[in-house]
Amino acid sequence: MTANLSDSPLLMDCHTHSRHSFDGKEEISALCEQAVSLGLSAYAVTDHCDLYPPRYPVEALKTAICQSVDQVAAWRDAHSTTTRILTGFELGEAVDYPDLAEEFLALRPVDLVIGSIHRTGDIVDFYYLDCAAIPREEIYRLLEDYFRRQIRLVEWGKFDVLAHVTYPLRYIVGDAGIPIDLARFAPLLDELLSKVIERDLSLEVNSSGLRQKIGVPLPDETILKRYYQLGGRRISLGSDAHGLPDLGAGIADCQQLLKKLGFTELTFYQQRQPHTLSL
Ligand SMILES: [Zn+2]
Ligand SMILES: [Zn+2]
Repeated sequence: MTANLSDSPLLMDCHTHSRHSFDGKEEISALCEQAVSLGLSAYAVTDHCDLYPPRYPVEALKTAICQSVDQVAAWRDAHSTTTRILTGFELGEAVDYPDLAEEFLALRPVDLVIGSIHRTGDIVDFYYLDCAAIPREEIYRLLEDYFRRQIRLVEWGKFDVLAHVTYPLRYIVGDAGIPIDLARFAPLLDELLSKVIERDLSLEVNSSGLRQKIGVPLPDETILKRYYQLGGRRISLGSDAHGLPDLGAGIADCQQLLKKLGFTELTFYQQRQPHTLSL
């Protein structure tokens, strides 16, 4: 509850997971109640919809996403709150399975779709990568592949918010303690950020890094500054909570950082249409 002690109100947490994610455990009702008690202006449940087939049978995943979206919508219909309760999901690895992605997008009308990449090459998820066992140059090669995948995802573009653009650093820098110089990816990152801006998508600031070893949001200040310099203004904010205690965690710090960098508003989505909240 420390977030409540901040002098500025928490505006949004639009990236959270319920028990309908393979790695989540909370009931939708508990999450929505917590979002309301934190006084959030906008709150979204965005369960995992990772299209990498070996991880889930597709039909089970479709059922999970439908249950998640339907339960959020039912909770919203049954409660009158000042918090906008939003439906959505986190669509992972859509560039590898565009046809399957279309099937998921057609399942239910939702408020927002988060686009994300968790994998590279043959690695199912950076989470499983033994960074310490891999030569440094190979890590840089995997990172380059990761950023290129994100560029392809943005070019595909059938989502609203690009999630955690520095996701691999959570494991490489945070967990394995391997320093990474992102300066060598500057042209690639500029291309990625420019395409996000061109397509009028939102760049997500994912506060999970603040409570993990890496200790900074994903992405961090350097990339957010560059996004602003390039003309990027659409920002979505999410805790990536997989349990109640993390809902809203780090959001106040991220809001403060964004204000410092010159951002004046956050963007959330209702029925896939952007709306803004003043920072
Ligand atoms: Zn993710
Ligand atoms: Zn997530």
